[in-house]
Amino acid sequence: MDKILLAKQICARLSQKYPGAVCSLSYGGDPWRLLVMGRLSAQCTDERVNIVCPALFERYPDVYAMAEAEQDEIAKYIFSCGLYNSKARDLKAMSVRIVTVYNGKVPDNMEDLLTLSGVGRKIANLILGDIFGKPAIVADTHCIRISARLGLCGDDIKPLSPEKTEKALSAIVEPGEQAALCHRFVMFGRDVCSARSPSCDVCELSDICLKNHLDTNNKE
Ligand code: SF4
Repeated sequence: MDKILLAKQICARLSQKYPGAVCSLSYGGDPWRLLVMGRLSAQCTDERVNIVCPALFERYPDVYAMAEAEQDEIAKYIFSCGLYNSKARDLKAMSVRIVTVYNGKVPDNMEDLLTLSGVGRKIANLILGDIFGKPAIVADTHCIRISARLGLCGDDIKPLSPEKTEKALSAIVEPGEQAALCHRFVMFGRDVCSARSPSCDVCELSDICLKNHLDTNNKE
């Protein structure tokens, strides 16, 4: 099947299954908080980040407070997220830069976002899509795995790099659907298409899924 058509069908079916496509990080609509939570979520679960952040944001309610914070004190609040020293260093440094260079506002473009400590394309796309409503593919582990299995990124199911996945999906998913599709991949990855044991027998996408097609052929 043509990949643009395949992407359309997947978007349509997943939007029926998950009408409310929202970020699983509870950032309350605040761009800086999403940036902070995005950084904390590296090698950590969104659930853990949601548990840790209320106390962190009570102590540092905005970018100005974090910019003046002691790195060691930030680290104590985020200890259970792992990599706490490097994350604390990045949170402080990104906040200082936002205050000093961007007048306290989170930038609305990829180029500037990538100048912030600890911010890579994944977090930058999360900000661009969720905060600024721009076309943005968040190539996280669910997005990479599921899009490869479905055959959206190529002719085999081997996962591509985050950059290649982002590029492949950007070319075939409608701009207005991109951010929502990535949120839906996260939900779908948790419910149905998990990394270790995908539930292909109950999957709404099984008839158009490349992995399922290959698995069925191999059994015959
Ligand atoms: S059929 Fe299986 S591998 Fe394909 S999308 Fe569904 S759960 Fe994932």
